[in-house]
Amino acid sequence: MLQHHGHDVVVVGAGIAGLAATAALVAAGRDTVCLEARERIGGRLLSAAAPPGALDLGATWFWDGERRVADLAARLGIDTFEQHLAGDTLVQDAAGVRRLPGNLIDAPARRFAPGADALARALAAELPVDVVRLDTPVTAIHRRAAGGLDVRTPSAVLHAEQVVVAVPPALALARIEFGSELSPELVRLARTTPVWMGAVAKVVVRYPAAFWREAGLAGAAASRTGLLQELHDMSGSDGRPAALFGFASAQAVGPGFEQAVIAQLELLFGPAAAEPEALHIQDWSDERWTAPPAVHRLADYSLFGHPLCQRPVLGGRLHWASTETAAQYAGHIEGALTAAERAAHSVLSLTPDEVNSCST
Ligand SMILES: Cc1cc2nc3c(=O)[nH]c(=O)nc-3n(C[C@H](O)[C@H](O)[C@H](O)COP(=O)(O)OP(=O)(O)OC[C@H]3O[C@@H](n4cnc5c(N)ncnc54)[C@H](O)[C@@H]3O)c2cc1C
Repeated sequence: MLQHHGHDVVVVGAGIAGLAATAALVAAGRDTVCLEARERIGGRLLSAAAPPGALDLGATWFWDGERRVADLAARLGIDTFEQHLAGDTLVQDAAGVRRLPGNLIDAPARRFAPGADALARALAAELPVDVVRLDTPVTAIHRRAAGGLDVRTPSAVLHAEQVVVAVPPALALARIEFGSELSPELVRLARTTPVWMGAVAKVVVRYPAAFWREAGLAGAAASRTGLLQELHDMSGSDGRPAALFGFASAQAVGPGFEQAVIAQLELLFGPAAAEPEALHIQDWSDERWTAPPAVHRLADYSLFGHPLCQRPVLGGRLHWASTETAAQYAGHIEGALTAAERAAHSVLSLTPDEVNSCST
Protein backbone atom coordinates (compact mmCIF):
# COMPACT_ATOMS: atom_id res chain seq x y z
CA MET A 1 0.00 0.00 0.00
CA LEU A 2 1.60 3.33 -1.07
CA GLN A 3 1.72 6.07 1.53
CA HIS A 4 0.62 9.62 0.64
CA HIS A 5 2.32 12.75 2.01
CA GLY A 6 2.03 16.43 1.16
CA HIS A 7 4.84 19.00 0.90
CA ASP A 8 5.28 22.49 -0.49
CA VAL A 9 8.25 21.36 -2.58
CA VAL A 10 9.81 18.04 -3.53
CA VAL A 11 13.39 18.29 -4.81
CA VAL A 12 14.51 15.35 -6.94
CA GLY A 13 18.23 14.57 -6.51
CA ALA A 14 20.70 15.37 -3.73
CA GLY A 15 23.61 16.37 -5.91
CA ILE A 16 25.03 19.81 -5.21
CA ALA A 17 22.21 21.48 -7.22
CA GLY A 18 19.44 19.65 -5.37
CA LEU A 19 21.03 20.28 -2.00
CA ALA A 20 21.57 23.98 -2.73
CA ALA A 21 17.97 24.39 -3.91
CA THR A 22 16.72 22.49 -0.86
CA ALA A 23 18.79 24.67 1.48
CA ALA A 24 17.39 27.86 -0.10
CA LEU A 25 13.79 26.61 0.10
CA VAL A 26 14.11 25.39 3.69
CA ALA A 27 15.69 28.74 4.63
CA ALA A 28 12.67 30.47 3.08
CA GLY A 29 10.35 28.44 5.29
CA ARG A 30 8.99 26.04 2.64
CA ASP A 31 8.17 22.50 3.73
CA THR A 32 10.67 20.73 1.46
CA VAL A 33 11.95 17.18 1.05
CA CYS A 34 14.84 16.12 -1.17
CA LEU A 35 14.60 12.61 -2.62
CA GLU A 36 17.85 10.91 -3.60
CA ALA A 37 18.02 7.67 -5.58
CA ARG A 38 21.44 6.58 -4.34
CA GLU A 39 22.45 5.59 -0.85
CA ARG A 40 24.71 8.62 -0.76
CA ILE A 41 24.41 12.34 -1.47
CA GLY A 42 26.68 14.36 -3.77
CA GLY A 43 25.96 12.90 -7.23
CA ARG A 44 28.93 13.79 -9.41
CA LEU A 45 30.78 15.04 -6.33
CA LEU A 46 32.44 11.89 -5.00
CA SER A 47 35.71 11.62 -3.12
CA ALA A 48 37.64 8.62 -1.80
CA ALA A 49 39.27 9.03 1.61
CA ALA A 50 43.08 9.10 1.33
CA PRO A 51 44.48 10.45 4.61
CA PRO A 52 45.65 13.16 5.10
CA GLY A 53 43.29 14.25 2.30
CA ALA A 54 40.96 12.80 -0.32
CA LEU A 55 40.97 11.84 -3.98
CA ASP A 56 38.24 13.24 -6.20
CA LEU A 57 36.57 10.67 -8.43
CA GLY A 58 34.11 13.26 -9.81
CA ALA A 59 34.59 17.04 -9.85
CA THR A 60 37.96 18.41 -8.71
CA TRP A 61 38.43 22.10 -9.42
CA PHE A 62 36.82 25.48 -9.36
CA TRP A 63 38.12 28.46 -11.24
CA ASP A 64 38.53 32.23 -10.93
CA GLY A 65 35.23 34.06 -11.19
CA GLU A 66 33.16 31.13 -9.86
CA ARG A 67 31.99 33.12 -6.89
CA ARG A 68 29.12 30.87 -5.80
CA VAL A 69 31.46 27.94 -5.24
CA ALA A 70 34.08 30.11 -3.55
CA ASP A 71 31.47 31.74 -1.29
CA LEU A 72 29.84 28.40 -0.42
CA ALA A 73 33.17 26.77 0.46
CA ALA A 74 34.09 29.77 2.62
CA ARG A 75 30.70 29.82 4.36
CA LEU A 76 30.83 26.09 5.04
CA GLY A 77 34.41 26.37 6.37
CA ILE A 78 35.89 24.11 3.67
CA ASP A 79 39.59 24.76 3.10
CA THR A 80 40.68 25.22 -0.49
CA PHE A 81 44.14 25.26 -2.06
CA GLU A 82 45.74 25.98 -5.43
CA GLN A 83 46.10 23.26 -8.05
CA HIS A 84 49.80 22.34 -8.40
CA LEU A 85 51.04 23.90 -11.64
CA ALA A 86 54.86 24.00 -11.48
CA GLY A 87 56.85 21.79 -13.83
CA ASP A 88 57.02 20.63 -17.42
CA THR A 89 54.38 19.03 -19.63
CA LEU A 90 54.50 15.61 -21.28
CA VAL A 91 52.98 14.95 -24.68
CA GLN A 92 52.41 11.43 -26.00
CA ASP A 93 51.70 10.65 -29.64
CA ALA A 94 52.62 8.10 -32.30
CA ALA A 95 56.20 9.40 -32.29
CA GLY A 96 56.59 8.68 -28.54
CA VAL A 97 56.75 10.86 -25.42
CA ARG A 98 58.10 14.41 -25.51
CA ARG A 99 58.77 16.83 -22.66
CA LEU A 100 57.82 20.45 -23.24
CA PRO A 101 58.94 23.27 -20.95
CA GLY A 102 56.35 24.65 -18.52
CA ASN A 103 52.82 23.57 -17.77
CA LEU A 104 50.90 23.94 -21.02
CA ILE A 105 47.81 22.08 -19.83
CA ASP A 106 46.55 23.17 -16.43
CA ALA A 107 44.77 26.48 -15.91
CA PRO A 108 45.10 28.06 -12.47
CA ALA A 109 42.34 26.51 -10.34
CA ARG A 110 41.53 25.73 -6.73
CA ARG A 111 40.74 22.42 -5.02
CA PHE A 112 38.85 21.40 -1.90
CA ALA A 113 41.19 20.09 0.85
CA PRO A 114 38.75 17.49 2.25
CA GLY A 115 37.63 16.48 -1.28
CA ALA A 116 34.94 18.06 -3.46
CA ASP A 117 32.16 15.99 -1.92
CA ALA A 118 32.72 17.84 1.37
CA LEU A 119 30.66 20.66 -0.21
CA ALA A 120 27.64 18.36 -0.43
CA ARG A 121 28.21 16.79 2.98
CA ALA A 122 28.52 20.16 4.72
CA LEU A 123 25.46 21.58 2.97
CA ALA A 124 23.36 18.51 3.87
CA ALA A 125 24.56 18.64 7.48
CA GLU A 126 22.92 22.07 7.84
CA LEU A 127 19.48 20.76 6.83
CA PRO A 128 16.94 19.55 9.38
CA VAL A 129 16.97 15.77 9.85
CA ASP A 130 14.74 13.83 7.50
CA VAL A 131 14.70 16.48 4.75
CA VAL A 132 17.06 14.42 2.57
CA ARG A 133 15.79 10.87 1.96
CA LEU A 134 18.34 8.44 0.54
CA ASP A 135 17.61 5.32 -1.47
CA THR A 136 14.42 6.97 -2.76
CA PRO A 137 14.38 7.10 -6.56
CA VAL A 138 11.62 9.15 -8.15
CA THR A 139 9.91 7.01 -10.78
CA ALA A 140 7.06 9.23 -11.98
CA ILE A 141 5.82 12.83 -11.81
CA HIS A 142 2.26 13.70 -12.83
CA ARG A 143 -0.17 16.60 -12.49
CA ARG A 144 -3.09 16.08 -10.15
CA ALA A 145 -6.50 17.08 -11.33
CA ALA A 146 -7.00 18.87 -8.00
CA GLY A 147 -3.78 20.90 -8.46
CA GLY A 148 -0.18 20.22 -7.59
CA LEU A 149 1.99 17.30 -8.66
CA ASP A 150 2.23 13.68 -7.60
CA VAL A 151 5.79 12.45 -7.15
CA ARG A 152 6.00 8.69 -7.14
CA THR A 153 8.73 6.57 -5.54
CA PRO A 154 8.75 2.78 -5.11
CA SER A 155 7.16 3.10 -1.66
CA ALA A 156 5.13 6.32 -1.65
CA VAL A 157 3.34 9.01 -3.60
CA LEU A 158 4.25 12.49 -2.42
CA HIS A 159 1.99 15.38 -3.22
CA ALA A 160 3.89 18.61 -3.90
CA GLU A 161 2.82 22.11 -4.85
CA GLN A 162 6.08 22.42 -6.80
CA VAL A 163 8.90 20.09 -7.84
CA VAL A 164 12.55 20.86 -8.57
CA VAL A 165 14.15 18.25 -10.84
CA ALA A 166 17.86 18.54 -9.96
CA VAL A 167 18.78 15.67 -12.28
CA PRO A 168 20.34 16.01 -15.77
CA PRO A 169 17.38 16.35 -18.19
CA ALA A 170 18.34 13.33 -20.34
CA LEU A 171 18.61 11.16 -17.21
CA ALA A 172 15.29 12.48 -15.88
CA LEU A 173 13.58 11.49 -19.12
CA ALA A 174 15.18 8.03 -18.99
CA ARG A 175 14.32 7.24 -15.36
CA ILE A 176 11.19 9.26 -14.55
CA GLU A 177 7.85 8.74 -16.22
CA PHE A 178 6.13 12.02 -17.10
CA GLY A 179 3.30 10.54 -19.17
CA SER A 180 2.48 12.79 -22.10
CA GLU A 181 2.49 15.94 -20.01
CA LEU A 182 5.73 17.53 -21.20
CA SER A 183 5.68 19.27 -24.59
CA PRO A 184 7.24 17.28 -27.46
CA GLU A 185 9.75 20.12 -27.89
CA LEU A 186 10.89 19.86 -24.28
CA VAL A 187 11.05 16.06 -24.43
CA ARG A 188 13.24 16.25 -27.56
CA LEU A 189 15.51 18.85 -25.95
CA ALA A 190 15.83 16.97 -22.66
CA ARG A 191 16.56 13.64 -24.36
CA THR A 192 19.36 15.13 -26.45
CA THR A 193 21.03 17.35 -23.84
CA PRO A 194 24.41 15.80 -22.91
CA VAL A 195 25.24 14.84 -19.33
CA TRP A 196 28.45 16.65 -18.46
CA MET A 197 31.26 14.08 -18.06
CA GLY A 198 28.68 11.30 -18.19
CA ALA A 199 30.64 9.39 -20.84
CA VAL A 200 33.96 9.67 -19.06
CA ALA A 201 35.96 7.32 -16.85
CA LYS A 202 38.16 9.06 -14.32
CA VAL A 203 41.26 7.17 -13.23
CA VAL A 204 42.98 8.27 -10.01
CA VAL A 205 46.32 6.73 -9.11
CA ARG A 206 47.86 7.15 -5.69
CA TYR A 207 51.63 6.86 -5.04
CA PRO A 208 53.83 6.92 -1.92
CA ALA A 209 55.33 10.28 -3.10
CA ALA A 210 54.89 12.82 -5.90
CA PHE A 211 58.06 11.57 -7.64
CA TRP A 212 57.22 13.41 -10.88
CA ARG A 213 57.55 16.75 -9.09
CA GLU A 214 61.11 15.86 -8.05
CA ALA A 215 61.84 15.24 -11.73
CA GLY A 216 60.57 18.76 -12.57
CA LEU A 217 57.33 17.50 -14.10
CA ALA A 218 53.93 19.10 -13.43
CA GLY A 219 52.08 15.79 -13.65
CA ALA A 220 50.25 17.30 -16.61
CA ALA A 221 50.19 15.32 -19.85
CA ALA A 222 48.23 15.09 -23.09
CA SER A 223 48.06 11.88 -25.08
CA ARG A 224 46.83 11.08 -28.58
CA THR A 225 47.68 7.40 -28.32
CA GLY A 226 47.14 6.32 -24.70
CA LEU A 227 43.89 5.44 -22.95
CA LEU A 228 44.26 8.44 -20.66
CA GLN A 229 43.91 11.42 -22.96
CA GLU A 230 44.61 14.11 -20.39
CA LEU A 231 46.48 13.80 -17.09
CA HIS A 232 46.90 16.07 -14.08
CA ASP A 233 48.46 16.15 -10.63
CA MET A 234 45.90 15.34 -7.93
CA SER A 235 48.10 15.53 -4.86
CA GLY A 236 47.01 17.23 -1.65
CA SER A 237 48.08 20.76 -0.74
CA ASP A 238 51.48 19.71 0.62
CA GLY A 239 51.95 16.91 -1.91
CA ARG A 240 50.16 14.34 0.28
CA PRO A 241 48.35 12.19 -0.62
CA ALA A 242 50.45 11.99 -3.81
CA ALA A 243 48.33 11.21 -6.85
CA LEU A 244 47.86 11.64 -10.57
CA PHE A 245 44.57 11.45 -12.42
CA GLY A 246 43.47 11.08 -16.00
CA PHE A 247 40.34 11.01 -18.12
CA ALA A 248 39.54 8.19 -20.52
CA SER A 249 36.56 7.54 -22.73
CA ALA A 250 34.26 5.24 -20.75
CA GLN A 251 33.96 3.10 -23.88
CA ALA A 252 37.62 2.13 -23.44
CA VAL A 253 36.97 0.54 -20.03
CA GLY A 254 37.01 -3.25 -20.19
CA PRO A 255 39.30 -6.22 -19.69
CA GLY A 256 42.96 -5.15 -19.59
CA PHE A 257 42.11 -1.47 -19.05
CA GLU A 258 43.91 -1.21 -15.70
CA GLN A 259 47.11 -2.85 -16.99
CA ALA A 260 47.08 -0.65 -20.09
CA VAL A 261 46.68 2.46 -17.92
CA ILE A 262 49.62 1.48 -15.72
CA ALA A 263 51.73 0.79 -18.81
CA GLN A 264 50.85 4.25 -20.15
CA LEU A 265 51.74 5.89 -16.82
CA GLU A 266 55.09 4.08 -16.79
CA LEU A 267 55.80 5.17 -20.35
CA LEU A 268 55.03 8.78 -19.43
CA PHE A 269 56.44 9.14 -15.92
CA GLY A 270 58.99 6.31 -15.61
CA PRO A 271 59.28 3.08 -13.58
CA ALA A 272 57.99 4.58 -10.28
CA ALA A 273 54.63 5.11 -11.98
CA ALA A 274 54.22 1.34 -12.41
CA GLU A 275 53.90 0.87 -8.65
CA PRO A 276 50.83 2.73 -7.40
CA GLU A 277 49.55 2.32 -3.85
CA ALA A 278 45.97 2.43 -5.10
CA LEU A 279 44.15 2.83 -8.40
CA HIS A 280 40.54 3.97 -8.71
CA ILE A 281 38.56 3.64 -11.94
CA GLN A 282 35.32 5.60 -11.80
CA ASP A 283 33.27 4.89 -14.91
CA TRP A 284 30.51 7.49 -14.81
CA SER A 285 28.74 6.01 -17.84
CA ASP A 286 28.10 2.89 -15.77
CA GLU A 287 26.27 4.81 -13.03
CA ARG A 288 22.52 4.34 -13.29
CA TRP A 289 21.87 7.61 -11.43
CA THR A 290 24.26 9.73 -13.54
CA ALA A 291 24.08 8.46 -17.09
CA PRO A 292 21.13 7.55 -19.32
CA PRO A 293 21.61 4.70 -21.82
CA ALA A 294 23.94 5.58 -24.75
CA VAL A 295 25.17 8.68 -22.92
CA HIS A 296 28.24 8.85 -25.20
CA ARG A 297 25.96 9.67 -28.15
CA LEU A 298 24.80 12.92 -26.52
CA ALA A 299 27.26 15.50 -27.77
CA ASP A 300 25.47 18.76 -28.62
CA TYR A 301 26.76 20.98 -25.82
CA SER A 302 25.07 24.03 -27.37
CA LEU A 303 21.88 22.69 -25.72
CA PHE A 304 23.27 23.45 -22.24
CA GLY A 305 21.35 26.23 -20.52
CA HIS A 306 18.58 26.11 -23.14
CA PRO A 307 15.79 28.68 -22.49
CA LEU A 308 13.19 25.87 -22.37
CA CYS A 309 14.88 24.51 -19.24
CA GLN A 310 14.98 27.95 -17.64
CA ARG A 311 11.19 28.13 -17.45
CA PRO A 312 8.92 26.16 -15.14
CA VAL A 313 6.59 23.66 -16.84
CA LEU A 314 3.59 21.54 -15.80
CA GLY A 315 1.50 24.51 -14.87
CA GLY A 316 4.48 26.43 -13.52
CA ARG A 317 5.10 23.73 -10.95
CA LEU A 318 8.15 21.85 -12.28
CA HIS A 319 11.56 23.54 -12.31
CA TRP A 320 14.82 22.16 -13.79
CA ALA A 321 17.96 22.60 -11.73
CA SER A 322 20.91 20.41 -12.79
CA THR A 323 24.15 21.99 -14.00
CA GLU A 324 23.14 21.22 -17.60
CA THR A 325 20.26 23.69 -17.27
CA ALA A 326 22.36 26.63 -16.05
CA ALA A 327 22.47 29.74 -18.22
CA GLN A 328 26.08 30.26 -17.12
CA TYR A 329 28.89 27.90 -16.08
CA ALA A 330 26.83 24.90 -17.28
CA GLY A 331 28.70 21.66 -16.57
CA HIS A 332 30.57 23.05 -13.60
CA ILE A 333 29.74 22.99 -9.88
CA GLU A 334 29.22 26.74 -10.33
CA GLY A 335 26.59 25.93 -12.97
CA ALA A 336 24.80 23.55 -10.59
CA LEU A 337 24.68 26.31 -7.97
CA THR A 338 23.53 28.84 -10.59
CA ALA A 339 20.72 26.52 -11.72
CA ALA A 340 19.71 25.79 -8.12
CA GLU A 341 19.55 29.50 -7.36
CA ARG A 342 17.33 30.12 -10.40
CA ALA A 343 15.03 27.18 -9.58
CA ALA A 344 14.66 28.16 -5.91
CA HIS A 345 13.98 31.76 -6.92
CA SER A 346 11.42 30.60 -9.43
CA VAL A 347 9.66 28.42 -6.80
CA LEU A 348 9.62 31.27 -4.30
CA SER A 349 8.53 33.94 -6.74
CA LEU A 350 5.29 32.13 -7.68
CA THR A 351 2.53 32.59 -5.14
CA PRO A 352 0.07 29.70 -4.80
CA ASP A 353 -2.51 31.74 -6.75
CA GLU A 354 -0.04 32.31 -9.60
CA VAL A 355 0.80 28.61 -9.65
CA ASN A 356 -2.89 27.78 -9.91
CA SER A 357 -3.44 30.22 -12.75
CA CYS A 358 -0.49 28.90 -14.86
CA SER A 359 -1.84 26.70 -17.60
CA THR A 360 1.18 25.49 -19.58
C1 LIG B 1 34.69 13.00 -13.79
C2 LIG B 1 34.09 14.37 -13.56
C3 LIG B 1 34.93 15.46 -13.41
C4 LIG B 1 34.38 16.73 -13.18
N1 LIG B 1 35.23 17.78 -12.95
C5 LIG B 1 34.69 18.97 -12.59
C6 LIG B 1 35.55 20.01 -12.11
O1 LIG B 1 36.77 19.83 -11.96
N2 LIG B 1 34.96 21.21 -11.79
C7 LIG B 1 33.61 21.41 -11.90
O2 LIG B 1 33.15 22.52 -11.61
N3 LIG B 1 32.77 20.42 -12.31
C8 LIG B 1 33.30 19.21 -12.63
N4 LIG B 1 32.46 18.18 -12.96
C9 LIG B 1 31.01 18.45 -13.04
C10 LIG B 1 30.35 18.52 -11.66
O3 LIG B 1 30.61 17.33 -10.96
C11 LIG B 1 28.87 18.73 -11.89
O4 LIG B 1 28.66 19.96 -12.56
C12 LIG B 1 28.03 18.81 -10.61
O5 LIG B 1 28.46 17.92 -9.62
C13 LIG B 1 26.58 18.53 -11.03
O6 LIG B 1 25.72 18.64 -9.93
P1 LIG B 1 24.16 18.40 -10.14
O7 LIG B 1 23.57 18.46 -8.79
O8 LIG B 1 23.67 19.29 -11.20
O9 LIG B 1 24.02 16.92 -10.74
P2 LIG B 1 24.44 15.46 -10.06
O10 LIG B 1 25.65 15.67 -9.28
O11 LIG B 1 24.46 14.55 -11.21
O12 LIG B 1 23.22 15.20 -9.10
C14 LIG B 1 22.03 14.58 -9.50
C15 LIG B 1 21.53 13.75 -8.32
O13 LIG B 1 20.25 13.23 -8.63
C16 LIG B 1 20.19 11.87 -8.23
N5 LIG B 1 19.16 11.24 -9.06
C17 LIG B 1 19.22 10.92 -10.38
N6 LIG B 1 18.04 10.42 -10.80
C18 LIG B 1 17.22 10.42 -9.72
C19 LIG B 1 15.86 10.01 -9.52
N7 LIG B 1 15.11 9.52 -10.51
N8 LIG B 1 15.33 10.13 -8.28
C20 LIG B 1 16.06 10.65 -7.25
N9 LIG B 1 17.36 11.04 -7.39
C21 LIG B 1 17.92 10.94 -8.61
C22 LIG B 1 21.59 11.36 -8.47
O14 LIG B 1 21.86 10.19 -7.72
C23 LIG B 1 22.42 12.55 -8.01
O15 LIG B 1 22.72 12.51 -6.64
C24 LIG B 1 32.97 16.90 -13.15
C25 LIG B 1 32.14 15.79 -13.29
C26 LIG B 1 32.69 14.54 -13.48
C27 LIG B 1 31.77 13.33 -13.58
